[in-house]
Amino acid sequence: MRDALHARLRFYRDLGIGEFYRREVDMSAYSAPESLPEPAQIPVQTAPEPPPALFPQLQETEIALRKPFPAAPPIAPPVPPEQHFAALKLIRDEIGDCTRCALAAGRNKLVFGDGDPNARLMFVGEGPGADEDASGLPFVGRGGQLLNNMIQAMGLKREQVYIANVVKCRPPANRTPEPDEAHTCSPFLFRQIDVVRPQVIVALGQTAVTYLTGEKRSLAAWRGTVHPLRGTKLIVTYHPAFLLRDPNQKKHAWADLQIAMRELGLTPPARK
Ligand code: URA
Repeated sequence: MRDALHARLRFYRDLGIGEFYRREVDMSAYSAPESLPEPAQIPVQTAPEPPPALFPQLQETEIALRKPFPAAPPIAPPVPPEQHFAALKLIRDEIGDCTRCALAAGRNKLVFGDGDPNARLMFVGEGPGADEDASGLPFVGRGGQLLNNMIQAMGLKREQVYIANVVKCRPPANRTPEPDEAHTCSPFLFRQIDVVRPQVIVALGQTAVTYLTGEKRSLAAWRGTVHPLRGTKLIVTYHPAFLLRDPNQKKHAWADLQIAMRELGLTPPARK
């Protein structure tokens, strides 16, 4: 039941639906049943008890949890292209055998990032899944296969792009990273971005765009336009895992990737 609910919530999140509201309470449920005596027969009329608030504690917690996002670190000065590889290694070394958040306890391999340190195009996902946790590389499972196809359709090879995630350790059962986990890890992602300095970043899904920008908007509100981000151009599309669940959306993802291609001056390879 929990897993089914979790899967359904992920599905809605991938669609960009992140806020859920309870329906208005039907007050008729609280009105007196028909069998009560007529008001005239009741000797003393007292004010009716107000209906109990539904889950009052939960409502309070929901509001309290909406903390402002911490500011992203200032953009680091540019690193000469020939030093990008070494600069990324320094960041990796600084992360070390990380125990900064709870995700460390369940990880096999930390997934730092992969690809060309001088890439013009960078993809940012949510966090490692089981295959990535086992291999230490981002997007190597089924979603990774689809991402490889998307990269190829753009006329690029995977080795020509840089790929990283919001969190570098696998969340248990592939759940969405908690805000404190994402906020603990994302400064390293920002430093990777500042070193690579891609012309275009493609955020894959809601979690990626939320923690890259520090703004909670629906995916629909982000898609279709170019957004400035740390001196680069941010384009937002669906997460490959969502496209595997709903292949009808692939055409929309392709439209997003064409925006990225336009920004990069790329034309799709001729079909064989
Ligand atoms: N999903 C992600 O968001 N990132 C990966 O690396 C793999 C799956």
